[in-house]
Amino acid sequence: MLDLLGLPGVRPVDLQSEGGGITITAETTESPTPDCPGCGKAMHRHGSRKTTFADTPQQMQPVRLQIIRPRHRCAECGKMMTPELEFLDEKRRVTTRLIEEIRKRCLNRTFHSLADETGLAVNTIKNITLDLISELEQTVRYQTPVIMGIDELKLAGDYRCIITNLATNSVFDMLEKRTKAHMKPFFRALPDREQVEWVCTDMWRPFKESFGPYLPNARLVIDKFHVVRMASDALEYERKKLQATLQRSDRLKVKKSLRWLTLKRSTSLTPDECKTLEIVRDDMPKLAEAYDFKEAFYDIYDASDKAEAIRVFESWQNSLPEGELPKFHALARTVRNHCEDIFAYWDAPVRITNAYTEGMNGIVKMANRLGRGYSYEIIRARAVYAEHARRVSISTKPGLPTTTPSMPLEYGPHIPTLADLAERGETG
Ligand SMILES: [Zn+2]
Repeated sequence: MLDLLGLPGVRPVDLQSEGGGITITAETTESPTPDCPGCGKAMHRHGSRKTTFADTPQQMQPVRLQIIRPRHRCAECGKMMTPELEFLDEKRRVTTRLIEEIRKRCLNRTFHSLADETGLAVNTIKNITLDLISELEQTVRYQTPVIMGIDELKLAGDYRCIITNLATNSVFDMLEKRTKAHMKPFFRALPDREQVEWVCTDMWRPFKESFGPYLPNARLVIDKFHVVRMASDALEYERKKLQATLQRSDRLKVKKSLRWLTLKRSTSLTPDECKTLEIVRDDMPKLAEAYDFKEAFYDIYDASDKAEAIRVFESWQNSLPEGELPKFHALARTVRNHCEDIFAYWDAPVRITNAYTEGMNGIVKMANRLGRGYSYEIIRARAVYAEHARRVSISTKPGLPTTTPSMPLEYGPHIPTLADLAERGETG
């Protein structure tokens, strides 16, 4: 029979194909009678033993491998022995080459699809994955970011803390929760923590309080998008308030036709939207005014330097009408409270934002598609160790710190690539 196995020390003697699977029976080619490991006496052949292992699929069908091995017995002490074959994982009842194939795929395929393909139980796939993850946790190390992003992500039922490298646009790490109890130990143990120069986060205080004591050279810049979003929220509040005073029919019209007002910048309005805005100016001057304040707030970020930005903000703040537009007044207060960290945006050598967050939504979608049976630990590994995306951000760029020049520097999975893979379903 043709050797369709290509495994050392065994030869196939039978092949059955039934019920969507292939069963290959194989015998050991030669096995000299061993000496007893207990007492050193020569052993005797004592029948044979048949064990079943899962092997790599053939012809797109799961393969069960039945291995027939001689059994030896020691007449002296009664010890029994079966020859060991190096290509078998006796504990999992899987060939080692199948385990290798599963390890290559388990972080971007579902456990169910791999179980169907290989004939293994979902739990076996999961256990192989968990072994791989603990190995990755021991061995994979990414370069500490010079420009670090810290953000939250709702994943697998809870808010997680995601740490990114904003210079390379890659995932650096993910923490189970975004509480100080989870973040402080992370920053305390971070290698090369003096390397971090900038940290970009939203206004959530625990972020700053967690990294502050441990990153001696880091300055905080509050993410631009989190700041300007508050102006959109303030406009949205005014729109809803105004809507509530209208008749039902008018209300629906306003809701449908004016939602874009809060979302779009004046420069990206279509000619139709510009016309509608003119009608709003005549019919609902209060809403148009709120729209203009939103727009003027966004303009702060067009300033070319810090002094100009502060001037634009101050004149914006001073022009707010007394006793009206409460959410805009609240926004002005928030900016004053976080003044240093918001205007640090203009101190950084490059314009730092957490704009990648959009890309991370793909990861959230991927995780939601996976559904039950995927713990946070597994979902984290899919994001933090995604191999295809990691390749993109291996770099030997000059000017970046090199500790071991012979080794490529790894920065973690490239977020746009990760998002792209998630979008195409290849991580799900
Ligand atoms: Zn013996």
